[in-house]
Formats: sequence, structure tokens, C-alpha cells
Amino acid sequence: MSTPSLASGPGGPNALRPLLETVLDALALGARARGGPLPAGGPDAVAARVRAAVGDVLPRDGDPDALHTLVQALAEGAADPADPLCAAHLHCPPLAVAVAADLAASALNPSLDSWDQAPAASELEALVTGALAREVYPDPPDEHGADALVTTGGTESNQLALLLARETLGAGVRLVCGANAHHSLPRAARLLGLPEPVIVPAPAGTLDPAALDEALTAVPGPWLVAGTAGTTDAGLIDPLPELAGLCRAHHARLHVDAAYGGGLLFSARRRGLLTGLAAAHTVTLDLHKLGWQPVPAGFLAVRDARDLGALHQRADYLNAADDTEAGLPDLLGRSLRTSRRPDVLKTAVTLKALGRAGLGALVDQVCELAGQFAERVRDDPRFELYDRPTLSTVLFRPADAPDDAVAAVRRHLLEQGRAVLGRARLDGHLWLKATILNPHTRPADLTSLLTAVAQALRAGEASRERAKDLAEGNTPR
Ligand SMILES: *Cc1c(COP(=O)(O)O)cnc(C)c1O
Repeated sequence: MSTPSLASGPGGPNALRPLLETVLDALALGARARGGPLPAGGPDAVAARVRAAVGDVLPRDGDPDALHTLVQALAEGAADPADPLCAAHLHCPPLAVAVAADLAASALNPSLDSWDQAPAASELEALVTGALAREVYPDPPDEHGADALVTTGGTESNQLALLLARETLGAGVRLVCGANAHHSLPRAARLLGLPEPVIVPAPAGTLDPAALDEALTAVPGPWLVAGTAGTTDAGLIDPLPELAGLCRAHHARLHVDAAYGGGLLFSARRRGLLTGLAAAHTVTLDLHKLGWQPVPAGFLAVRDARDLGALHQRADYLNAADDTEAGLPDLLGRSLRTSRRPDVLKTAVTLKALGRAGLGALVDQVCELAGQFAERVRDDPRFELYDRPTLSTVLFRPADAPDDAVAAVRRHLLEQGRAVLGRARLDGHLWLKATILNPHTRPADLTSLLTAVAQALRAGEASRERAKDLAEGNTPR
């Protein structure tokens, strides 16, 4: 066998071109074979099909069809966020232009741990992180300005925010957050060995300022208060100006997890929902949610760039002091990772290709669709609506159904491959969750989604009656 081709170098583009055709063909065939938002049959059936397609994972001799076979198998067994009935999670359909840019990132393979591995990519990253930091902090407090780091997502950004709080305030800093906060925050506190977090009850789905005030009065500081702009379960936004005021009054540091809601910054109509964001010391953004990027596209914006000094690290082979003095940019302190993909390329391309207007229109489109879906649910006596959406998440449940029937509806739709809905427990009930992130979804798709839920509920009722009859020894109806 000849030596396999490389993706970069003079022969790279010509080596990739036929392979891209193979990939695109396999993606189309796989999607056609699936025929819906996710593969039918549930985990065992999907696993069996994947095992049959893959065969020997590491055969003695290579298989020239491996690329086609495996891409087709993955596409056939995918949950496709571009299908309007795939609306469970903050799992967005990526933009074609972002995915195309990501191919270039892989082909060039710059690594952002030193300038000599990423001369242009390091400058592009500095430009994009600077621009995003200015979106969050339009009026930085002093001449040092704001900055932002590239991360793998909200989880890493939240962990970095806690780490920077610890480096600034000491190892006794205590996380104070609402019960509505993302699970990654209390987990990061434990990972970093910080004191046990204080979790403030949030029965209405947002952090209650009075309860926060009480917690900050009762427990000694220093504190890192974490608010959420766009909760994972309901897409709600904590009262940011009030949180900022309380943090000022108690001398607490403030982090805002805007992994979901951060995308509102692009919408002229909706960015007002984030008023108060700039008061936070750190802000988590996740453009693989309301930013239509393939994963990963996380950022952590930091109001005072000097806070990032805590991440400084010296490794002679990457950033020797004399190299830095001679003018080679020192990149090692911009992440806890060492080798690091130029994930910023796809984001840079997206920001420039769509512009603020294009991205803002996508944000408005999905938020408006969610509003329409909520109205449809509200006007349909078969369903109960949790509330009008703030972002693009709609919680609803079949009217009068017990929680186990609601859970069964979701699993039935997954098993059939008919729809992907999420679930959320709020107000003591289990709700179905539709997170609308697909700007191509049409109102008719939302009708289909409700029809699918109603049919799944009836199928569940019928099977429970059959089971009851069997248990009671009655003849089948
Ligand atoms: C999605 C989400 C996270 C986690 O982000 P990942 O990118 O999945 O790591 C954190 N916080 C909130 C509010 C989220 O919605």
C-alpha cells in the first residue's frame, strides 16, 4: 500500500477533493436511510446496525471503503438537529459555512499553544476574542480592557470562571448559585476543592434576589455568585441588574453563565434582555447553542484582562522567556489545554459571513418560532403550557397526564425515531421540552410535533390498558 495522502501541503487540496465527494455522498445516503430526526428502534437496534457496519475496528489490512462506510453509518444513526422534529437540547444545527471553515481548521491543523505552530491562527484568535469581549463589555472599566478565552464549551468556561475567582479571592471563595444553575458550576467548585457551594432555591426558575441577599448575609464570604442568562431547562434569565447590585453591596464577585442566552447579544431587538451582563467579572458564552457552530465553540469573557495572569505558565519549549522578550507571542496562558485546535476559525468566518444583522436575524427567528409554538400549545386543549418563552425553549405537557406518562411519551418518540424532545422537572411536574434552534423550522413542523406527541400519548395509554388487562386476566379488548 502506498503512503496515505496528507491533508495539507501542496498535494492537500487535491487529496481532499475526492474524499469530500465520498463524505458528502455518504452523508446523503445515511440521512436518506434514516428518514427522520433520529434512527428508529432504540439503543439496541442502533448499536447492532453500527456494529454490523463497522465490523473489525482495527483489521489487519486496511479497508479502502472505510470512509464511506463509517460516515454513512454515523449519518444513518445520527440525531439530526437540522430536522425540525429534533428539538430536545441546546444542540444546534451547524451552519454550512461554519462546518466548511472547520474543515480548513483540521486540514491546516494549527495548534494554539505556541506562535510557531499557529502564526496566523493566533492573531485571528486574538482578534475574535477581543471582539467578543467588547460585545459583552462595551465599556471596559479601565485601560487594561476586557478579554476572552476560547474554550470547549460552557462547562470549561464555568470551571475557568471559578478558577479565576479562586486565584483572585483565595481558596476560601464559596460559590453561591441558584438551583436553576447549570450542574457544571457546583461540580467545578468540588473539582477545585472550594468550600461546599450554597445553592439558593429557585422555585420560579430564576434566582430570587431576596433569597440571594439572605444567603450572602447568612454565609461568610468571599463569594462567587453565579447567575444564569438562559437556563438550560426553561431558557429563563436571572434578574441580572439586581444580582449585580447585590454583589456590589456584599462585595461579592459575579459570574454570569450566558451559555445559552449570550447569543441575544447579536439581536438588536433582544440584547436588552441581557442588561446588567457587563457588571459580571466573567461571562460564559457558547456559540454552539445560539451561534450555530459545530461543537466546540465556547468562550469565557473576562472584564479585567489582568485576571488572566493567573493562567500564566512557562514551558521552555513553547514560550521561553527570551523568545517572549524577542517578540514571539506567549499563548500558553490562554488556556488550560496545551495542544489546541483553531476552533476560532469557524466562528470568525460565521461572524464575518453573516454579520451582526445575519446572526441577529437567526436569533430573532428561533425566538419568534418558539413564541408561535407556545401560542399553539396554549390554544390546544390537549396540552398545558408552562409559560411563554423568554428565549427559544418551550415547556409543555399533555393536559392531566401523570409524570410517568409524560416520560413515556418522550421515550416512545425516541424509540420510533419520530421526534426528539427533552424533559425538565419544574413546579413539581415533569414537562416536555422543545428547544427551538433551527431557523428553517416552519409553523407546520410545530403542528406535526404536537400531533406526534398526542399520538405517542394515545399509544402509551393503549399499551398501559393492555398491560392492565393482562395482569387482571381479562380477555384483550
Ligand atoms: C449548555 C450549558 C452549559 C454547558 O455547556 P457545554 O458547552 O455543554 O459544556 C452550561 N451552562 C448553561 C446554562 C448551558 O445551557
